[in-house]
Amino acid sequence: MNQKEKLVIIVPCYNEQESVGILYDEIMKTTAKPLQDLMIEIVFVDDGSSDNTLHTIKDLAIKHQNVSYISFSRNFGKEAAIYAGFKNAKGDYYAVMDADLQDPPHLLEKMYEAVKNQGYDCAAAKRASREGEPKIRAFFAKRFYQIINAISETEIVDGARDYRLMNRRMVNAVLELKEYNRFSKGLFSWVGFRVKWIPYENVERVKGSTKWSFGKLFLYAMDGIISFSTMPLKIVSFLGILISLFSIFGIIFIIARTIIFGDPVAGWPSLVVIMTFIGGLQLLCLGILGQYLAHVYMEVKGRPIYLVQEENISKEVSK
Ligand code: UDP
Ligand code: MG
Repeated sequence: MNQKEKLVIIVPCYNEQESVGILYDEIMKTTAKPLQDLMIEIVFVDDGSSDNTLHTIKDLAIKHQNVSYISFSRNFGKEAAIYAGFKNAKGDYYAVMDADLQDPPHLLEKMYEAVKNQGYDCAAAKRASREGEPKIRAFFAKRFYQIINAISETEIVDGARDYRLMNRRMVNAVLELKEYNRFSKGLFSWVGFRVKWIPYENVERVKGSTKWSFGKLFLYAMDGIISFSTMPLKIVSFLGILISLFSIFGIIFIIARTIIFGDPVAGWPSLVVIMTFIGGLQLLCLGILGQYLAHVYMEVKGRPIYLVQEENISKEVSK
């Protein structure tokens, strides 16, 4: 008899004790019929939760054979959790799904259909609108996508979620990217392949609260830009050239004026303003440079992307 193909669903969890059980039931219920020709394994990656998430997952794993888990030694971030899932689980298809049921499991059917039968390597969910999101957050999110797409060669689709289903080929490609700063949306896009976008209406999370404050999102956006574009460095260099040229003309103008009209001492307030302006600009440029340096620093150290505290995942090392 032919063995069934296997779909691995990777679920990064950080303090999701209330959601994991509901998610498991929901996945099994919605996929029972449409995905019956697939074996389904759910890999919960506990990202150093401080609540009872790991306990809840372990209970699930005792009750259900198709539940595996990897638990990190501390919080390494969602991106690290996704990477760990890809690296450790063995399957023919891989899906990434949030624990909070904001990624509706019923989309898996469509995604699987696209990858299995329509010649796509990946089917990814995309928010049809930003309804329900705070206005300011939506505004800045929109600007972020505009900026990053204007200055980066890798296209980052507005509204794209990490929720997606991929074949082994694409997962292997993503695993090839071993960088420490993992901006998943960018990595998934960078590897290319044929991607089908499936729009859906946003849903609220079932339990718990979002782990993303505005500040965290801002830093994440900055990381994304720095990881996928060197344009800020070019802009800074260009600005430097422009200001230098401007000051050369300024010097020539002042010398000429002094020679022709003498030297009336005036205009020190404007001098102070110009000095502070240039000083601020220099700090900004240094800051941008520093950000790139910090990224290089983190990469050069070559630290592991995650560390495992305990796991029950079968150690068939992936290809
Ligand atoms: N998550 C994680 N590590 C973190 C933060 C979040 O594994 O440091 C997980 C979280 O448990 C959830 C998913 O990533 O399954 C998305 O997080 P969240 O719902 O807070 O983000 P949002 O949906 O608000 O963008
Ligand atoms: Mg969420």
